[in-house]
Amino acid sequence: MQDCIFCKIAAGEIPSTIVYEDDRVLAFEDLNPQMPVHTLIIPKEHYANIGDGISDELLGYVFNTVKKVAEIKGIADSGYRVIVNTGSDAQQSVHHLHVHVLGGAPMNSGSP
Ligand code: C5P
Repeated sequence: MQDCIFCKIAAGEIPSTIVYEDDRVLAFEDLNPQMPVHTLIIPKEHYANIGDGISDELLGYVFNTVKKVAEIKGIADSGYRVIVNTGSDAQQSVHHLHVHVLGGAPMNSGSP
């Protein structure tokens, strides 16, 4: 989609630090990390958010990539948090579906 920054990252038009890539998904380092490990996973195809018509199959594929990223980043055993901000109440700021994978240090309770 034109003017979507994550579409441009997915297309390689804007550089990113790639953690994992295949023909359907891209995982790259968040530019403003909130934890020692902060990686974003996106489907290469544009969906604004988790409720924007993505197929169950592709959504499952995106979430399966979380496990790969955790292994690559070395946090599979220590644990990690997975966040998908969706819509305005959740303060979603980039409207291309993305999964945050956060870890590398102990976190506070997962409650908001
Ligand atoms: O879930 P939310 O939409 O708030 O998160 C967007 C995330 O994308 C932020 O963590 C921000 O740092 C990251 N970002 C990025 N590279 C960009 C623009 C945003 O890593 N060019």
